[in-house]
Amino acid sequence: MSAAARAWAAAAAVPDPEVPCVTVADLGILREVRIEDGVAVACVSPTYSGCPATAMIEMGIETALRGAGFEVRIERVLSPAWTTDWITAEGREKLRAYGIAPPEGPAGKRALFADPVVACPRCGATATRKISEFGSTACKAQYACTACGEPFDYFKCI
Ligand SMILES: [Zn+2]
Repeated sequence: MSAAARAWAAAAAVPDPEVPCVTVADLGILREVRIEDGVAVACVSPTYSGCPATAMIEMGIETALRGAGFEVRIERVLSPAWTTDWITAEGREKLRAYGIAPPEGPAGKRALFADPVVACPRCGATATRKISEFGSTACKAQYACTACGEPFDYFKCI
C-alpha cells in the first residue's frame, strides 16, 4: 500500500465526534489526504459553520495520522462549502441504522423555507413531525414518528 493510501485509511477511519456511527470519510468532511515531502496533508471541510466539532475532528485526524507514523498538516478547505450532499450512500445507511434520519437531499435554499418530508429511520413511515429545531446537537432537529411513536434525530440538510 502506498504512503498516501495508508494515510487515507488512517484518517478516513476517524469517527465523527458528534455522530460516532459514521466516519469523517462517510460524511465527506475528509476531502483528500496527500503526501508532500513526507508530510501527510489532510484536507478537511468544516461542516456547519461554527460547529464546535470541527476542531475535534481535525484533532482526531491529526492523532490518527501521527499514530500511523506520519508528520501531519491539516488544511481547512472552505470552498466549496460542505453540504449534506457529500454524505456517502454508505454514510446514509449507517445513520439510518443508528436511528438518525439522513438528510433529504438535495441541499438548497428551499430547505430554509419548508420542512422536508422526513422518513422515520425505524419504520420508514413519512408520517413524522418536527418536535424541536434542535436535537442532541445543533446540526440535528428532533422529530417524532406518528406511525410507530419513535422520537428520532434528523440530520439537517444544508
Ligand atoms: Zn416510525
